[in-house]
Amino acid sequence: MKALCFATNNNNKTEEIRALLGSFFLLKNLKDIGCAEELPETQPTIEGNAHQKAQYVFDNYGIACFADDTGLEVEALNGEPGVYSARYAGSQRNDRDNMSLLLSRLEKSNNRKARFKTVISWVENGRTENFEGLVYGTIIDSPRGSNGFGYDPVFVPDGFDKTFAEMELAEKNLISHRAIAVKKLINFLRGKYA
Ligand code: IMP
Repeated sequence: MKALCFATNNNNKTEEIRALLGSFFLLKNLKDIGCAEELPETQPTIEGNAHQKAQYVFDNYGIACFADDTGLEVEALNGEPGVYSARYAGSQRNDRDNMSLLLSRLEKSNNRKARFKTVISWVENGRTENFEGLVYGTIIDSPRGSNGFGYDPVFVPDGFDKTFAEMELAEKNLISHRAIAVKKLINFLRGKYA
């Protein structure tokens, strides 16, 4: 059985990936390895932050590790909020404030194209691999729906009429940026170890 760490404190994310990985892998999260400190996330890119977190865990805890980082990239805002998605409107990291700021910055724009980007970075013994998931869509004028989190109420993925926040979690999970990146990671891990 291969032990791996997912550098997260989010139990839902851990369970989701644990179920997909199967019984050959022993998936631990930060709590399981006794890591209570906040992981560094000081890089200027989504890739950089994902890698920084995974590398930190590998260096300090000596276990093969992967970490994820996600951002919303809006075309008319030159890719903003991007790596700053969680704290776009300030360090209070409030979803509603972030969405309001986004909508106000897009008020006069006809170009509403955007994409969610997730990068999962895996690190072990000086080796690193990145796995990317992208979902393209549009930003609507005002929020709709109450499921999900973050920018879900203002994002309609291409090919759908509903926002992510109007979808059931299972429906979003089938097509989401995170799901796409996770599938790539799982193929890699199965090929490498199983
Ligand atoms: P994290 O890297 O998963 O913590 O995501 C950073 C930020 O991106 C979150 O705080 C949210 O604002 C936004 N975000 C990430 N994933 C999603 C999503 O699936 N829907 C909407 N917003 C998201």
